[in-house]
Amino acid sequence: MLERSVGLDELPRLADLLSTTAGCLSIRLEGWRDGDGKSWLQLGIAGEPVLCCQRCLGGVKFPLLIKSRLQLLAPGEEWPDDDLVDDSADAIAAEKALAVLSLIEDEVLLALPIAPRHEQCESPRGNASQQGSSPFAALAALKKH
Ligand SMILES: [Zn+2]
Repeated sequence: MLERSVGLDELPRLADLLSTTAGCLSIRLEGWRDGDGKSWLQLGIAGEPVLCCQRCLGGVKFPLLIKSRLQLLAPGEEWPDDDLVDDSADAIAAEKALAVLSLIEDEVLLALPIAPRHEQCESPRGNASQQGSSPFAALAALKKH
């Protein structure tokens, strides 16, 4: 079993959706082979990424707890034998690490809400009546040009 934390800045597709890439996800990874020779991967992901609220653009913490079980299929590819020389084993491990990060990112992206929002917050538009006094109003005005 493997346990490590992955920085949110290591997951570029996810980072695009976040208010901040500070922080990390805790990953638990366990692989085994069953009696039929099928390979399985149990993936656990926990963390609290901060998404962008679609209403006020502020940060929204999203508690994440994912557990998924995947069957590993490698068409036309046998799993390496235990007696492989160390050099090639290292190369395989490195490739797998990359694939696993991408897998983790896919799982997280699937779990995230499409339009994250605070349960209660004020839309920047709500400040329009105080024209000139709100930094949001000034920003909005700038963006129109
Ligand atoms: Zn909000």
